[in-house]
Amino acid sequence: MYIARLDLRDFRNLTTQTVSFSPHVNVVTGDNAQGKSNLLEAVFYFGGGKSFRARREQELIRFGAAAAALTAHIVSGRRAQTLEARFSAGARRVLFANGVKLSSPRELVGRLPCVFFGPEDLDIVRAGAASRRRFLDLALCQLRPRYLTALSEYVRLYGHKTRLLRDSRPGTALPDALPVFNSRLAAAGAALTRYRMDFAARVTPAAAALHGAISGGREALSLRYVTHGGLGPDDPEEALAAGLLALMEERAEAERAAARCLVGPHRDDIELLLDGVPMRAFGSQGQSRTAALALKLAERDIFREELGEPPVLLLDDVLSELDGRRQDFILHRLEGGQVIITCCEPGRTTGLPEGKNLLVEAGRVTADDDGSGNR
Ligand code: ATP
Ligand code: MG
Repeated sequence: MYIARLDLRDFRNLTTQTVSFSPHVNVVTGDNAQGKSNLLEAVFYFGGGKSFRARREQELIRFGAAAAALTAHIVSGRRAQTLEARFSAGARRVLFANGVKLSSPRELVGRLPCVFFGPEDLDIVRAGAASRRRFLDLALCQLRPRYLTALSEYVRLYGHKTRLLRDSRPGTALPDALPVFNSRLAAAGAALTRYRMDFAARVTPAAAALHGAISGGREALSLRYVTHGGLGPDDPEEALAAGLLALMEERAEAERAAARCLVGPHRDDIELLLDGVPMRAFGSQGQSRTAALALKLAERDIFREELGEPPVLLLDDVLSELDGRRQDFILHRLEGGQVIITCCEPGRTTGLPEGKNLLVEAGRVTADDDGSGNR
């Protein structure tokens, strides 16, 4: 599946225009701050049903404009589809598929799956646990509608429970509503944990093989999903829910003292081991980057297996950050499937299979046929 065309209106700094893409490799060049990442963000919107970087949807509307819109023309197998997102100041965004309004972002799931890889992902191994949870969330929200539902439910309940804890004074009785929030949080949390543990288990062999291939086979990468003690990778979802609930009850006073939720998958992590040694503490810069690359390419392989076709691969400015060997590795794995790569220097991606060169200048995207960066 691929995006053939994208109609843009007042999205970020991008001007009102239509951009056509090749189903193969698209190389997007341009100076800093011209709109290259914004273009990838627009495409990813239909994969993840949200931005990979904006905290507020309103940020997506061009400064000074009242509304923005994106329309993606997708081809999947032989079927053509249109997906549309409309943003307006002060209102929630509205999504459409083939002209029909969607009642939930869940209905976008699977229509244009995207794997995004940007400079911040190169630090996924060394950064805090949040970046690794985000890796799992961005992938699972696109593969499993039920995951997306559980995640939004979890985030909503988490906010309510945090307010409840903040408003309740130590020394008084625990809030009456707490048991209800705890059991619903435990149920949603168990669903998230179960999916994440399964996904981490699936990533392990794929990422290990990729890591071996990139590094020349000398080191063995493995992943371990780390959750609260006592809960394990073989526990069924009901057992995880019961375990989380028991921990919440046990730690109720501590949660109130801290005025935040201390139990649940928002505290989980993936531990990455290289030859059995934790990478976060001991991995070199190069080893960490290789592992990050292996995780992302493993995600793409799993999507491909799961969907029967490769997802759209969005590579934002990563090539310039990688050495020649790792660049070659990525570029040689691009076959089959649509890829949109951004980079600052034209010519960096010469020798790629058939594709298209695009140039972004001050929010305007033009075809750059000879890939020279000159028009
Ligand atoms: P780099 O090579 O540095 O990564 P880039 O081409 O990827 O640059 P973008 O991140 O796409 O650049 O951003 C381009 C510009 O878009 C920035 O200067 C930013 O100020 C601007 N911008 C972001 N959001 C909006 C908005 N809502 N309205 C107008 N401009 C915006
Ligand atoms: Mg950028």
